[in-house]
Amino acid sequence: GGSDMAPFSDAETRAAIRAAQRDLDANARAEARRARRRRMCTPRYLICKVLIPLSMVIVAVWAMVYFLTGRSIVPGIDPDDLPPFFTDNWGDWGEETGYEGGEGDFGPFQKWTDPPATTDNTGLELTVINALTDEWFTYFSTAVTDWQGGDPRPLELDVRVASSAESECDHIRGVMVACNGNYGRTGWTGLNEVLFERNRIVSSVARMNEFYLRNSDSEERQYTMCHELGHGFGLPHRDETVGNADLGSCLDYTSRPGNNQGPDDVDYANLVGLYGSVPPGRTRRHARHAEVTEVTKLTT
Ligand SMILES: [Zn+2]
Repeated sequence: GGSDMAPFSDAETRAAIRAAQRDLDANARAEARRARRRRMCTPRYLICKVLIPLSMVIVAVWAMVYFLTGRSIVPGIDPDDLPPFFTDNWGDWGEETGYEGGEGDFGPFQKWTDPPATTDNTGLELTVINALTDEWFTYFSTAVTDWQGGDPRPLELDVRVASSAESECDHIRGVMVACNGNYGRTGWTGLNEVLFERNRIVSSVARMNEFYLRNSDSEERQYTMCHELGHGFGLPHRDETVGNADLGSCLDYTSRPGNNQGPDDVDYANLVGLYGSVPPGRTRRHARHAEVTEVTKLTT
């Protein structure tokens, strides 16, 4: 006897094959989805496709707000820590400086004591020591020359060069010392540390921080040098917003240091207000009260 089962028709066979094919396709798609999910969870995928684009968006928004308002919208992150924005801490004086005076918008004007500097309202005579490394010499001499400009002229600087660079330049009574070094991630590009007695400046140290400046161009270096020497004469900032119009003064915070390379007439006038002006035709007097023994110690 033969089988009593009826053979499948061709149509039924094709339907069964199609159903099996659909199952296979569905399984393959599900497997592909699982594989994609596994790929998306790899660190490489998260970093490349999620973290980096997200960071770029955040930085772009922050930069826009910062340039429009000059304020950081991210609490705890000081935008000035990040190059290329210049910053320093002028006016944030702790007790160790001896200063007990008030605070202006950008810190009040300060003034050298007399003696050891000579400030008898005929300009400020001050000894400035170059304890920088060679690559800073041109910026230093340009800044010193610029600061001795103005009409009338407020400053008479007695410049000396240390016999070797001193990144840890020490305070010397009656003297301003300029030096450079890698001081680390301090949050300041340049710094002028002043010491006070009875709220008058008795010494000043201007430091250029290579941590932020080692890759910077000549414009930023010139700006920083001019800026920190300017503080050393007692001048506060002219403006502390980075993104606004540049004043043409190196005491104006800027992201375009080429616009603010030297002092401007207002800076000279401010110094004349503090110290008077050097009488025309006066021959250079030496800063009589500088402690030469200390200078000698620095240069050995
Ligand atoms: Zn400053």
